[in-house]
Amino acid sequence: MKRHEKAIIIGGGISGKLAARVLSEFFKEVVMIERDQESVRPVPRKGARQGEHLHALLHAGAHGLEELFPGITEKFYESGALKINSTKDLAWFHHGVWKLRFDGGYTTALQTRPHLEWHIEQYIKAIPNVLIYYNHNVKNYFYNIEENRITGVEVITANNSTKTFIADVVVDASGASSFTTNWLKQVGVDIPQHKVEIGLSYVTQLFQLPENRSRDWMIKLIYPNPPHEKIGGSLSKVEGDQYISTIMSYEYEINEKQVLENEHGFIELSKRLPKLDIYDEIKDGTPISKTSVFRVPHIIWKRFDKVRNLPAGLLLIGDTVCRIDPVFGQGMSIAVLEAMALQKLFLKKSNNLQKTITIFHKKIAKIISVIWNMVVTEDFRYSGTSGKKPIGLKFQQWYAKQIFLLSSEDEKVYNTFIKVMNLVKPMTILMKPGILIKVLAMSFRIE
Ligand SMILES: Cc1cc2nc3c(=O)[nH]c(=O)nc-3n(C[C@H](O)[C@H](O)[C@H](O)COP(=O)(O)OP(=O)(O)OC[C@H]3O[C@@H](n4cnc5c(N)ncnc54)[C@H](O)[C@@H]3O)c2cc1C
Repeated sequence: MKRHEKAIIIGGGISGKLAARVLSEFFKEVVMIERDQESVRPVPRKGARQGEHLHALLHAGAHGLEELFPGITEKFYESGALKINSTKDLAWFHHGVWKLRFDGGYTTALQTRPHLEWHIEQYIKAIPNVLIYYNHNVKNYFYNIEENRITGVEVITANNSTKTFIADVVVDASGASSFTTNWLKQVGVDIPQHKVEIGLSYVTQLFQLPENRSRDWMIKLIYPNPPHEKIGGSLSKVEGDQYISTIMSYEYEINEKQVLENEHGFIELSKRLPKLDIYDEIKDGTPISKTSVFRVPHIIWKRFDKVRNLPAGLLLIGDTVCRIDPVFGQGMSIAVLEAMALQKLFLKKSNNLQKTITIFHKKIAKIISVIWNMVVTEDFRYSGTSGKKPIGLKFQQWYAKQIFLLSSEDEKVYNTFIKVMNLVKPMTILMKPGILIKVLAMSFRIE
């Protein structure tokens, strides 16, 4: 099965680890290069600062992780992640209505991102042909100009020495800060991009909360009703008897500096949510972390799949290709779906590595396209959002709104929406006649 020699992966985040897992089946040696130091326990890392904020794992991501790392879900629970009923234990206020709560037959693991990532890393460390270099920063590619081929990378180590790594394929999994697009420009390769300005900011703090007998949920989401409401928030139980609370805003509605300057800034900020539920919980809680801020000025999808003269030997995955609006919790699951697509392609037994890479970029464009469309449809509800609008935007927004409203009164519609939102079923199931009729009836009712 190991028909190729050596693969290098830039970045040991979620996509880097997933790529390492998949490529270890097909390459004799896989080298993963990560600029952060090794985590000895599940704590946020400098190189993946977003890990300080709420990270939900959708069903598609959870299923894929279990397939790639058998037993991982149980490991999450054994070390404190919470197993919740995805519809019963989630209290979700969305577009001005509370969604129904009932047993829809699905479970979700609640945990912090460092906890999830740490468990994946333990699996990767146990793969004999994967070598991990921590504290190594990839600075440059080795490039054969005549063949238009990437042949390796140049790396700076923690003590400032330079190392070189040569391989058959270099995978860029270095995330949104990847240097590849700029590097490619210098060698005359332009990457077309879709970019949508959203002005999103995230503010997060961890709490311990007193017992509350009336708390009958494990995660509460208070999302804004756009366009007039721009701030949303969440409060979720996670491992270690902690609660993570994240408040986000579009169009930079939150003054993060002011929040950080005030000792109780986060709790004060929670008063600005469309409902006071989260404030009512955390006002009596004990903050157990500093307040963290993360900005996502724009979302971006780099179309490596469209470039004919992309150097050979270069494969791109994860946030390097697309940073999506994180409010919908899809980024890690997209990375899992991409890794599964990569595995499927390699299993087809083609010895033509370059062909596999080219097809991979096209396959992941198909995965991203549907999700990108779903996400920007919501982002464009705000007038400050700018960028290329999807075709049929107004209709899509209208249809989605009816689905959101129906989710507060119709179990079947909500359960179908949950499957689409969790990326386990295509959007088209929300257009089936049974649901279409309900959507039309709802729209007559509210007009
Ligand atoms: C605020 C926020 C909230 C989010 N919430 C969710 C959520 O609820 N659910 C969800 O599924 N997704 C969420 N996401 C998305 C998710 O974080 C990303 O999709 C995911 O981390 C992508 O993984 P990645 O490995 O591609 O990139 P990253 O996680 O960014 O990892 C890149 C890695 O590469 C390393 N690196 C970078 N450059 C170099 C270099 N030159 N040399 C060596 N190493 C390098 C970095 O140190 C890092 O470890 C959220 C994102 C943000 C910003």
